[in-house]
Amino acid sequence: MTKETIFSKIVAGEIPCNKIYEDDLVLAFYDINPDAKIHALVIPKSNHLERLSDLENSDAELIGHMMISIAKIAKKLGIDKTGYRVITNSGDDAHQEVEHLHFHILGGETLGKLNANNKG
Ligand code: 5GP
Repeated sequence: MTKETIFSKIVAGEIPCNKIYEDDLVLAFYDINPDAKIHALVIPKSNHLERLSDLENSDAELIGHMMISIAKIAKKLGIDKTGYRVITNSGDDAHQEVEHLHFHILGGETLGKLNANNKG
């Protein structure tokens, strides 16, 4: 079980979000500080995973569901044909800010080439 974060508060309805998609397992909403014309966040409603590194075999169904949800959300956002990037930051070296597993969906415009050495 992870600690309470801004995202668990969003799941609980204690903090508002601009919702894009929701089902039993997953919630998607717009990032408050977008890095692209379209910047969505996809999170599991459960807060038992702080980051990708926490995944265990028992999470396979959840992660599969999240990936399929991301494909559906991209379609809903109208970027499935034009293209988009999916990112997850895991841990300090990746500058993960919120300790609740989440995937960023970035699109709606031509993105810069991915540069792993961009130190921000
Ligand atoms: P990370 O750096 O952890 O991968 O990304 C966290 C993301 O959450 C950032 O892009 C940040 O803008 C976004 N964020 C932080 N707080 C809030 C919030 O209260 N609402 C929304 N919608 N996004 C948030």
